[in-house]
Amino acid sequence: MRVPGVVFATRELLPQAAGDKALEQVANVATLPGIVRASYAMPDVHWGYGFPIGGVAATDVDGGGVISPGGVGFDISCGVRLLAAGVARDELDPERIRRVMDLLDRTVPRGLGRGGLWRLSGPEELDDLLIGGARYAVEHGHGVPRDLERCEDRGVLDGAAPGEVSTRAVERGLQQVGSLGSANHFLEVQAVDKVHDPETAAAFGLRQGQVCVMIHCGSRGLGHQICTDHVRAMDRELQRYRIDIPDRQLACTPVDSPRGRAYIGAMIAAANYGRANRQLLSEAARRAFATALGVGLELVYDVSHNLAKLETHEIDGVARHLCVHRKGATRALPPGDPSLPADLTEAGQPVLVPGTMGTASYVMVGLPGNDAFHSACHGAGRVWSRHQALRMVRGERLHSELEARGIAVRPASYRALAEETPDAYKDVDAVAAVTEGAGLARQVARLVPLGVCKG
Ligand code: 5GP
Ligand code: MN
Ligand code: MN
Repeated sequence: MRVPGVVFATRELLPQAAGDKALEQVANVATLPGIVRASYAMPDVHWGYGFPIGGVAATDVDGGGVISPGGVGFDISCGVRLLAAGVARDELDPERIRRVMDLLDRTVPRGLGRGGLWRLSGPEELDDLLIGGARYAVEHGHGVPRDLERCEDRGVLDGAAPGEVSTRAVERGLQQVGSLGSANHFLEVQAVDKVHDPETAAAFGLRQGQVCVMIHCGSRGLGHQICTDHVRAMDRELQRYRIDIPDRQLACTPVDSPRGRAYIGAMIAAANYGRANRQLLSEAARRAFATALGVGLELVYDVSHNLAKLETHEIDGVARHLCVHRKGATRALPPGDPSLPADLTEAGQPVLVPGTMGTASYVMVGLPGNDAFHSACHGAGRVWSRHQALRMVRGERLHSELEARGIAVRPASYRALAEETPDAYKDVDAVAAVTEGAGLARQVARLVPLGVCKG
C-alpha cells in the first residue's frame, strides 16, 4: 500500500456478508501508482468491480498517477437528480398519487430493451449529444435553461471524444436516450418527511411536506460498453507501463498517456450522455405531473456518483492536479466553492442520497474540511447480493407489502423488484448519520417514498 486506507463507518455499517471483499478492495486501491492521501471508503461501501462501491481515490496527474475505469464503474456518470413539486403531500389524496404513478408507469421507458424517449436521427446526432450533454437536450426543447444552472458542471463536461466511443457503444446508445434501465434505477415520488436544517432546505427550494421526484439512472448500454472496451485495452497494456496491480479488475493507465486521454474522452462522452438521459426523464416527469396534477417541477440538483474528475486539491500545502475517482460516491462541495451555482454558493452543494423504495432517502449538503476530496456517500449501499435477495424475497409479495404501506409501486418486473428489496440495503438513516458524524456532509432533509417506477 502506498497510502493508508480510510473507512468511514461504524462496526454495524462495515461490510459483513461472507465473501464481501470491499475492505480488501480498499487496500488494493491504495497500491495504485500515484495515489495520494488515502484510499477512502464511504459509509455505504460494499463490494464492486475492482474498486469498492463507495470508494474514493485521487491520483497525482503530474506524478505518473493512473486512471482506472473500475474506479468509475460500468455505469459511467450514473447519478441522481431531485426535483421539487409545487404541491405538498397533504394536498394529494392517494387517488391522485395513483393517477400520476400510472401515467409515469405508461410513459417512462425502463427495463431491458424498451427504447428511449428521444429518437435520435443517427450516429451524427448522438455525437452532438455526447459533446453537449444536458445542454444539448435543453437546446432541443427538453427542459428550460434554469435546469442547467442546477446541474453539476451545468450539465456538460468539456473534452468529450466521440471518436473514442466504439461502434458497438454507439449502437447501444442510439436507442436509449431517455430511459431508466433496470433494477437499481428508479423514478420515485417522495415527500419531505423531516427538515433537519430549515435554512439550507429553503435555499435548495425544499420545505416540510413538499412532494419531490428523485431520478436515479446513468449512461445505459453506451457507458457500459465504453467501460468494457477500455478495461480490456488497459489490461493489455499493463506491462508496457510496468504497472503492477493486485487485481486485474484494477486495470489502469497513466492519466497523462494516449490510452488515459482516450478513456477520459470516452468517459466524458458517457457522462454527457448520462446527464442528457436524466434531463429527458425529468421532462417525462414534468409532463406527468402537469397532466395528472397540474403542478410543475423545479430542479433542485443533479449530481453524478460514478465519475473520475480532474480537480485541483492541496496536498501537503501544495496545489496539485489530481484525478479524483468517485465510484458510488457523490461530490460534496462546501459553501463558498466557486464552481457552485450562484444561488447555492452560500448554502453549499446538495448531496443526494437515495435509500430504498421502502425506507427513506436524504438530501445532505457539502461541508468545509472534508479530506476525502469533498466526497460523501451515494446511497444506503447493498448488504445482500442480487442473487441472495432473489433467494429471500418474492417480488409479488414485496409489491403487496409496499402497497399496503401506502407506497404505489410500478415495477418493470417482479424479479427486478425482489432484487431491490429494502432488506438488501444498509439502514440509510444510519448511513446519513455516520456521514454527518464523519464530517463528510450534513443532513438537510429526510424524504419518504409515495410511489416508485422501478427499472
Ligand atoms: P447504485 O448507484 O449503487 O446502484 O445505487 C445507489 C443507491 O440507490 C443504493 O445504494 C440504494 O441505497 C439506493 N436505491 C436503490 N433502489 C432504490 C429505490 O427504489 N428507491 C430509493 N429511494 N433508493 C434506492
Ligand atoms: Mn447505475
Ligand atoms: Mn447509481
